[in-house]
Amino acid sequence: MNGELVRYEDVKIHISAEALTRALSVFEGLKGYWTDDGEVFAIRSPRKHYDRLCRSAALLHIPISFGYEDFVTGLVTLGAELLVPERDLWFRTTLYVTDGHWGEGTVADLVVTAFTQQKNDPDPMRLGVSTWRRASDVALPARIKSSANYVGGRLARIETRRLGYDDAVLLNDAGRVAEATGACILIANDGKIITPPTSEGCLDSITVGALATLAETMRIPFSHRPVERTELLTAQECGVAGTISELTMVEEIDGYRYDQTGVLSRLREMYLRVMRGEASVPGIDLVPLLDADRKSLLKGSPGDRAAG
Ligand code: PMP
Repeated sequence: MNGELVRYEDVKIHISAEALTRALSVFEGLKGYWTDDGEVFAIRSPRKHYDRLCRSAALLHIPISFGYEDFVTGLVTLGAELLVPERDLWFRTTLYVTDGHWGEGTVADLVVTAFTQQKNDPDPMRLGVSTWRRASDVALPARIKSSANYVGGRLARIETRRLGYDDAVLLNDAGRVAEATGACILIANDGKIITPPTSEGCLDSITVGALATLAETMRIPFSHRPVERTELLTAQECGVAGTISELTMVEEIDGYRYDQTGVLSRLREMYLRVMRGEASVPGIDLVPLLDADRKSLLKGSPGDRAAG
């Protein structure tokens, strides 16, 4: 927290901070992977996460007092403490507004937390379309990653979980597909992949960007365009994409079933191979952070830093 290692249970934020009273925080979730041989721990696209954090903060007039290098140093410092060979790590970098009032005198603290994560790939999911909608861009902009955005996702998740599903699809105020509660939605028909653009009410997803790049190298047509509810329900394949979800296949939405053998499944396999360092694709950046002895790989390798 603020450049210091602090025990998880000792982190303090005042109850009157706008982070708590008005959910005024912006954050990023980053994923780090061990390569298959266990030699290198690398993180996907830290620069893109830092840039999005800056965009989220800028929209909400939250000042940022650290640069990209400080941000990555935070990840390395915490990673070196917590990393174990059997598990990957995901990081949550949260900028909490700790001082100021209604936009006057805003001060924010960056807190980086990390959690170990099993290396297994997630099982296919079952989703339900929620009656809760994604707020429009002029009400609660979904394009940035602010904590307040997750109130709608919470309602949708609880609603669909009560019906026995794993997660929810949120439609936008025009009734078209926006996203899931913490991931974007992709469908595939006749060998072509489609995902709604951010203007449909989804986060500007870094994973979707990586998947689009990968699809191009695999010569799989990939387009960003609006998706209506019936197109979602009658698609051949469906998946959810996000840093933590990676590309998880969807087996069912509201009783409509999907294949798991087409282009989306192929894209998923390739994405996971790239994350494990088995294949590399220009434009998908995995920045090596630590070696097997948890020593920083950033030192003396400015190329790696810039690669983000
Ligand atoms: N939508 C929402 C609401 C999310 O929380 C996430 C996860 N960050 C995503 C989409 C996927 O974005 P990304 O690929 O950048 O993780």
